[in-house]
Amino acid sequence: MANELTEYPQSCESNKVLKSPKSPKSPKSKSLRSRQDRLSEASNQVKLLNQSCSTFGSFKDKLKEDGHFPLKPKALEIMQINLGYMCNLTCEHCHVDAGPDRKEIMCHEVLEQCLAAIEISGAKTVDLTGGAPEMHPEFCWFVSELSKRNVHCIVRSNLTILVSNKKYDKYPDFFKENGVEVIASLPCYTEQNTDKQRGDGVFSKSLEALKKLNNAGYGQEGSGLKLNLVYNPGGPFLPGDQMGLEIDYKRELLENFGITFNHLYTITNMPISRFLDYLLACGKYEEYMQKLVEAYNPNAASNVMCTNTLSVDWQGCLYDCDFNQMLDLKVADKTRNHIRDFDPIKLNSRSIVIGQHCFGCTAGAGSSCQGTTA
Ligand code: SF4
Repeated sequence: MANELTEYPQSCESNKVLKSPKSPKSPKSKSLRSRQDRLSEASNQVKLLNQSCSTFGSFKDKLKEDGHFPLKPKALEIMQINLGYMCNLTCEHCHVDAGPDRKEIMCHEVLEQCLAAIEISGAKTVDLTGGAPEMHPEFCWFVSELSKRNVHCIVRSNLTILVSNKKYDKYPDFFKENGVEVIASLPCYTEQNTDKQRGDGVFSKSLEALKKLNNAGYGQEGSGLKLNLVYNPGGPFLPGDQMGLEIDYKRELLENFGITFNHLYTITNMPISRFLDYLLACGKYEEYMQKLVEAYNPNAASNVMCTNTLSVDWQGCLYDCDFNQMLDLKVADKTRNHIRDFDPIKLNSRSIVIGQHCFGCTAGAGSSCQGTTA
C-alpha cells in the first residue's frame, strides 16, 4: 500500500485522503502567538530544526557537496515587503502565523524608508505580503506610490478579504488602475479541501472574489491583468506537478464556476510555524523532513528565491527570504539589516543565511513564492 508521504498527489482532490490531526492544543481560530505556544518563539523552531542535522545531515553540507556554499545573492529583482501579520483568516498551514489576533503592522516611517530603498535598489518588482496586506490602513497609498515609481507591484491576497467588507469593494478596480498583479492562494478547486485547510466558508468567498477580479479583467486573455493562483499541499507531502495541477485547476474552475486565471504556482509547505505545529501534532515531522531531504534537487538549489529576493518585515528588518523572516534569521550583515540602512552594493556581497528549513525550497521541482524553480 502506498505510504502517504511517498505519494505526490497529482490533483488537489487527492488531498482528502489525508486527515488533519485533531490536536487539542491547536484551535484553528488562534495564532501560535496568542496561544503562547512554544513554537511562537522563532528560536525554539530553529532549535528543533537544527536537531534534524544529526539524523538527516545538514543543508549546509548538501550545499557544500554541490559547490553552492556559501549561497550568494545574484542581482536583486524582487523586494518582498511584509506589511504586517494581521489577517482575517487563520489558515492551518500559515508559515507567518498570521491571524485576526496579530496586531503587528508597518508604520508610515518604515513605509517611507521602503520607498527610498526601492528607488536605489534596482529591484523591478515589489511583492506585498502579510497577513492580508490589503488590511494595512495605508495599503492604497503605498501601492499608488509604487505605481508612480513604475515599480511592478504584486499583491499576495487571500481573496476572502476582498469580499469581507464594503471598503474593499473598490480594490479590484484599484488594482487594475495601478497595474497590480494579484497572486492569490487557493489550495484546492474543491470546497471540502480548501475549507479544511483555511476555514469554513473560505472556498465560496474565494470564488466570489475571483469572479470580481475576472469582472475587472483579471485573468482574462489579452487584458494584461495577471491573476495567478497558489496551491500548497493539504498534508505532509510535496506538491504534484505544477503544470498538471494548473490544467486541472483551469478546467475545474472554468467548467464549474466560470472562473479564469493565468498561472498556478505550486509551493511546498515549509516545516516552520503552523505547518511545523501541524507536523508535530500528527507525528509526521521526522517523516516530512526525511521526505524533503531525500528529494533534494541540486538544480533547485541553484535557483532558490533568496538569490534574487530580499524580504522586509513590518519593523523594517531585512531577511534573505520570508521564511527566514519568520525564523527571525536576519541578513548576515549586522550593520545593514534594517531598511533605513539599505545599501544595495554592500548587501549584495553578503552570504545568505541558511538552515534545515531550506530543504523545503530544494525538494523535488523546487519551491519559491513564484512556484517551482527547477
Ligand atoms: S528558506 Fe529562504 S534562505 Fe533558505 S533556501 Fe529557501 S529562500 Fe533561501
